[in-house]
Amino acid sequence: MTQKIQDHLYLLDDGRVRQFLITGEDRALLLDTGFADSHLLPAVRAVTDAPLTVLLTHGDPDHAGGLADFEEAWLNEKDWPLVQAPVRLHPLREGDTFCCGGFRLETVEIPGHTYGSVAFADRSRRLLFAGDSVQKEGPIYLFGKHRSVSLYLESQRRLLTMAGEFDTVLPCHHDCPIDPVWIGRNLEDAEALQAGRLPSEPHPTLPCRVYQGRWTAFYCTEEDRLR
Ligand SMILES: [Zn+2]
Repeated sequence: MTQKIQDHLYLLDDGRVRQFLITGEDRALLLDTGFADSHLLPAVRAVTDAPLTVLLTHGDPDHAGGLADFEEAWLNEKDWPLVQAPVRLHPLREGDTFCCGGFRLETVEIPGHTYGSVAFADRSRRLLFAGDSVQKEGPIYLFGKHRSVSLYLESQRRLLTMAGEFDTVLPCHHDCPIDPVWIGRNLEDAEALQAGRLPSEPHPTLPCRVYQGRWTAFYCTEEDRLR
């Protein structure tokens, strides 16, 4: 499904994960590439023929899995080990800025969900592309060795100091758009997760537990909770 949500801004969604496409006169920005079997390129080409700059919010397989369809992409170096596809990777760092179609995306490093997670902030349009790190209700994945609850907390605290600069958060899963108030709600619940205050039950299929916060659910383990 492709949906135009603003002039020059499109949302692509295969029912599992969403990507964002920003179109300009002589190039386009694609935020994330979906799963390997999302086969995003035809949906992108139905919107624009412009050369693409591919930016990745992080290296999980539902975001970087489709990279093989592209020649190069920008990804924070801490997530490079998560990527298998033979593409040329460029290091994505705090403050790296990409302008296209009247948008100005500034990279904000928010490690936690993965060590290389980033958000893209457009302060003039008051938009935050948050990857998986800010979500309405979740579940937010925080289990496994490539994630860190303590870094997630630090990043959410930092995002919270910036929350007044945004009217809208665009997450890659579940409801979209959402209100920036979810930054603080996710943080409040992640603090309770780390402190051992959230009720939990085993996940029926994944190797983790489901922790239910007041606002947000997390997939985590007792070991990963303290990482
Ligand atoms: Zn995801």
